[in-house]
Amino acid sequence: MDLDAANAVLLERGAPAYRVAQMRQAITRDLITSWDEASTLPKDLRVALSEAAPASEMTIEDVQRAKDGTVKARFATSDGFPAEAVLMRSKDRHTVCLSSQSGCALACTFCATGTMGFGRSLTKGEIFEQLLWAARTARESNAKVRNVVMMGMGEPLQNLDAVLDFCHMTNDPDGFGLGARSIAISTAGWIPGIDALIKEPMQVKLAISLHAPDDALRSELMPINRRYPIKDLMAALKRYRQATKRRIYVEYLLLNEVNDRVEQAERLADLLYANLPGGTHVNLIWYNPTGSGMTASAPDRVARFQAVLEKRKIEHTLRRSKGADIDAACGQLAVRGLQEAKQKAREGRAQA
Ligand code: SF4
Repeated sequence: MDLDAANAVLLERGAPAYRVAQMRQAITRDLITSWDEASTLPKDLRVALSEAAPASEMTIEDVQRAKDGTVKARFATSDGFPAEAVLMRSKDRHTVCLSSQSGCALACTFCATGTMGFGRSLTKGEIFEQLLWAARTARESNAKVRNVVMMGMGEPLQNLDAVLDFCHMTNDPDGFGLGARSIAISTAGWIPGIDALIKEPMQVKLAISLHAPDDALRSELMPINRRYPIKDLMAALKRYRQATKRRIYVEYLLLNEVNDRVEQAERLADLLYANLPGGTHVNLIWYNPTGSGMTASAPDRVARFQAVLEKRKIEHTLRRSKGADIDAACGQLAVRGLQEAKQKAREGRAQA
């Protein structure tokens, strides 16, 4: 759903300002899925909007609900590319994890999306539509989406223009009205994008998926590290921190006997002290296995890793895995959808 395109329709037709406000309210507060539901707008405007800026551009192909309240949806764009969004519930704040691309070119070895290859970047409207789905889903339990993380399928900084346009639409006080600090953009370490974000006045959060404290392991887990090794990444993060004074969130998936040794926790602490002293918050993330062969760290290993960060006074939080009984990890639902589609195609060919 592209609000700017809807605005343009109203402008072209010379609609007064109050109609623009009604249109925005219908999408971002009433959460309509079709312009037919926008009863405050006259019929001719609804028809024009349906033609030029449809309220729903994507179809929802699958929805899974986990016992812990996590809900995951698989979307298909109008040209058939899959995307996913996950709504994670907690008592006072609901967080939605959104996709910025269909598939991903970066091929991280622990990630289901990484096995799909790259489809295409999503438009700002397609990203916004995932948020609107999450808001509707949260509304079912009288809740609201309080946080947005760009941590689903794709590398957001490789689709920066659309992602920033989406952030502005989401932040707009006359629209969705979510504070910029409640929006986080997570990167695998795309340095040109980090440098571009330095110039962005909106105070969105930056998260970096680090997942390993040394180049040999990080290159194995995240091929992007061969292009942008840790030294260059740290230099970019230093530039970002010096220019913006903003805290950087460091994401670290705990992979059993891969990156969760005590020495690796020490190296992580050394790295952060040397480059970003006092400027980070580490999120240790419980791994949701994706069929990569890697598993979640055993609880005693997690405790030992945390103890090192505690001792070294590295600010950190352990994030429990959400939606473990559904395909909630990044890309899992889309990969399953692709597998089902291929299976159907094979069956169709066999029958023919
Ligand atoms: S973890 Fe993120 S950057 Fe890496 S392959 Fe998956 S979607 Fe792409």
